[in-house]
Amino acid sequence: MTETPITCGKGHVFWANWTPGASVTSIRLGPRRIGWCKAGRHVAVLRHADERKLTPQQRAELYGSDA
Ligand SMILES: [Zn+2]
Repeated sequence: MTETPITCGKGHVFWANWTPGASVTSIRLGPRRIGWCKAGRHVAVLRHADERKLTPQQRAELYGSDA
């Protein structure tokens, strides 16, 4: 299982397994999915986060405050 950075429509970031077809609880919408945002604890449109575009705050959430 490889976890990758995921971002939701509200800007939360968290690690999740994005392997296609791996989750039966998400709805596939091309590059986006509707699923459970673990960071904000809500259902949201999720997409694969582009690590180069993360804000410093988002990086801190993913990697810890030293990132
Ligand atoms: Zn969220």
